[in-house]
Amino acid sequence: MLEYLKKDLTVRTEWQVKEVNFSDIDSIAVKNQNGEVIQATRVIVAVPLTVMQDRDIKFIPALPEEKNTAARALQMDPALKILLKFSKKFWPSNHGLVVCSDSFVSQYWTYEADSAAPPVICGFCTGDQARNVGSMSHDVIVDSFLKQLDAIYASQQNGVAPATSNYQEYYIYDWGKHPFIRGGYSAGKVGANVLHRQLLGQNVASYLFFCGEATSSFAPGTVHGAMESAALAVDELIAFKRQKKTLLAKKRSKMDKLQAPAPTAKM
Ligand SMILES: Cc1cc2nc3c(=O)[nH]c(=O)nc-3n(C[C@H](O)[C@H](O)[C@H](O)COP(=O)(O)OP(=O)(O)OC[C@H]3O[C@@H](n4cnc5c(N)ncnc54)[C@H](O)[C@@H]3O)c2cc1C
Repeated sequence: MLEYLKKDLTVRTEWQVKEVNFSDIDSIAVKNQNGEVIQATRVIVAVPLTVMQDRDIKFIPALPEEKNTAARALQMDPALKILLKFSKKFWPSNHGLVVCSDSFVSQYWTYEADSAAPPVICGFCTGDQARNVGSMSHDVIVDSFLKQLDAIYASQQNGVAPATSNYQEYYIYDWGKHPFIRGGYSAGKVGANVLHRQLLGQNVASYLFFCGEATSSFAPGTVHGAMESAALAVDELIAFKRQKKTLLAKKRSKMDKLQAPAPTAKM
């Protein structure tokens, strides 16, 4: 999908935006961590909520305070996944998704082995649980999760620890520790409402547009919400550009009429 989306674009990676200077709206300056600058006539900001909250990007002039207030009304907790690979499947086929809220890992889902893929269980933690599990060493995380699975499935395997005895390898990814994301997805704090998301996504001066899952009132916290918010930002940008073009065209034709030589009267 990424290959398709970027086919007509110049994509720069390792390019952390540090400053967006829109003092001159005809030439907005976007600066990166190395001081390199790109000039633009319009900018769409699509960073995660945490990046807005922690003000990683300096906006010149400063963004309206209501946008910062809106960002603070939401929160983005860590989220992590623990994938365990086994030599054989030891769980029943109807255990697609298991929720066990008082366990070490409160939910996991299973992947059936087929000819191409090995049997895998994926544990998922968010919020305080992700914060707690994320502070432990990988050895402790894997050992604790295996013990949890052993306790759940041992009776079906004649008392043998089925997870530990079939365990092969693990992969853990903690989005709370990703330096440019720092969390899973946004959620409203107590008192937050849809207006906060709308304010976060509101354009500034019709030249600076905002999107990302946290700005979506339709489906926050999801990929489709993020995509929908990006489509909205692009539509808005085009509408403002057209509006400006129409206004300019009207102004120009008015000026042309004013400057046009008076028609010579026919005798
Ligand atoms: C473990 C997990 C499971 C999930 N499961 C689902 C699911 O099943 N279904 C679903 O719909 N959603 C799911 N989500 C949520 C979904 O992944 C997010 O809502 C979505 O990816 C957010 O998209 P986004 O474009 O808003 O932000 P991101 O995808 O986070 O994109 C923001 C980008 O901005 C970049 N960035 C940050 N700072 C800067 C800067 N200063 N300069 C330049 N770039 C910067 C970041 O590197 C990042 O690439 C899950 C999320 C997690 C963590």
